[in-house]
Amino acid sequence: MVGFGQNAGWNLNPYFAEFLSGKPDTVLRAFFYKADTRKKEVAITFDDGVIANTPTLVNYLRQNNIPATFFLIMRLVNAQNLRLFDSSLFELGVHSWKHDDFRNLTEAQKIADMDSCEQALIRLNATRRFPYYRPAYGVIDATIACELAKRNWKGVLWSDESQDWNGLKGDTLVKHTIHSLNSGSIILFHDIIAVSDLAAICTAIQEKGFRIVPLSRLMKQKSLFPPRIGSR
Ligand SMILES: [Zn+2]
Repeated sequence: MVGFGQNAGWNLNPYFAEFLSGKPDTVLRAFFYKADTRKKEVAITFDDGVIANTPTLVNYLRQNNIPATFFLIMRLVNAQNLRLFDSSLFELGVHSWKHDDFRNLTEAQKIADMDSCEQALIRLNATRRFPYYRPAYGVIDATIACELAKRNWKGVLWSDESQDWNGLKGDTLVKHTIHSLNSGSIILFHDIIAVSDLAAICTAIQEKGFRIVPLSRLMKQKSLFPPRIGSR
């Protein structure tokens, strides 16, 4: 299916767009993708930490006073590395226990994975610091949607993929990330991104007249949903 999520203001890879297009509205609507706003504000998010490169990114963001949200693989989080994010600039979300693809798990295994995350947050006394949940690989389904509601986690996906995970670097990465940038965009990065590339992208965002704001600020608006083309 061509076109789903490829409209102006959306920048999803075709496989992910096709995956989402197969989901019922009840599942799609359990997640936030992009804020419905006219203000030129965007949010940046990072998946798959905490890894060796995470402190470098955090330092850059601190030095430049740029807010960001980190979706952490909970198996990698401990009391010590959690302190990295001790700043009002940073918001946190759960990104599964060990980054399994939930498409390969039974319902019980999915619930167990989410239980492990919840228990880790209790041990770390950090439950309130992690209001968000982003599934590994952006895999969503009815079980996950239902469990999020029970656990009071807000499901968050994205509207703009940097494709940093896919080998893009330098100018190519910058151009790919910002070409569809739009009011309310939520940009997906990974902690593997080079800090020089992150800096170039943040500068380019600002040069286009956008302000990088906390995810929580965008989430005060309603979410827009990836547009369906050629159906309904
Ligand atoms: Zn991930």
